[in-house]
Amino acid sequence: MSSQLYQQIREFYDESSSLWESIWGEHMHHGYYGQGGTIQRNRRQSQIDLIEEFLAWGNVTAVENFVDVGCGIGGSTLYLADKFEAKGVGITLSPVQANRATERATEQDLQDRAEFKVADALNTPFRDGEFDLVWTLESGEHMPNKRQFLQECTRILKPGGKLLMATWCHRPTDSVAGSLTPQEQKHLEDIYKVYCLPYVISLPDYAAIAEECGLMEITTADWSTAVAPFWDQVIDSAVKPDAVFGVLKAGWKTVQGALALDLMKSGFRRGLIRYGLLQATKPFDSI
Ligand code: SAH
Repeated sequence: MSSQLYQQIREFYDESSSLWESIWGEHMHHGYYGQGGTIQRNRRQSQIDLIEEFLAWGNVTAVENFVDVGCGIGGSTLYLADKFEAKGVGITLSPVQANRATERATEQDLQDRAEFKVADALNTPFRDGEFDLVWTLESGEHMPNKRQFLQECTRILKPGGKLLMATWCHRPTDSVAGSLTPQEQKHLEDIYKVYCLPYVISLPDYAAIAEECGLMEITTADWSTAVAPFWDQVIDSAVKPDAVFGVLKAGWKTVQGALALDLMKSGFRRGLIRYGLLQATKPFDSI
């Protein structure tokens, strides 16, 4: 199951990354528009704000070495390597992304501090306890096994190190909210198909898994309202002629992704899609 999924993810990003970069830049994640979602910023600035707000929320003020799990073309990897004068390694399933990220590191004279590999987040090539920060921005939704994903993140964290994750979730399904309705399931499945996602889970589910992995000081936050305006900006720019032409030229998967932008917008509007943040620390006494 995962080899077919991985192939789809690889093809999706191999095919669409250069178009994304030329129209939307190096960051392939939501922007941040203030907690109420009302601050108007251009899209690129809002994406940088998201990184900064995420770091502030995670109370990260110094980093020596980190891994960027699901790194895209290295938008955050290079940002963090530069900001903290840290060493970083980014992993992605897409060889096109890894090559472009490596090229971008050289363009920014960060080649000694940042490297990129094609590797699977569920089974990384890293030693136990290698990193003081595991950063994962909008890749958890692609993982076919969320437990194995968080277990691997925990394994490669140094004792005392921090996990910072932001990921697409569905709404909580506790006794008050109730389980997902068939219409909600259908809406999610439409999103899964176009963005190559196996499934998403709720933020409380992630927190429970993090606890099972032995992580401590687990905190979560729902930033759906803060990030939802992003899709309006993407939709506005996607209808400009050069974007439309680029989408058509990139290929069928990218066309489907573009046609489905509204699924995300309406998913946020109905409270089904949630933008979940989780931070946690690896205890010193863990093996
Ligand atoms: N974090 C980046 C990119 C987000 S796009 C940014 O914010 O700019 C999602 C990324 O997750 C892609 O690079 C994709 O290749 C990666 N990804 C998805 N599944 C993965 C897996 N199993 N192992 C490693 N990377 C994965």
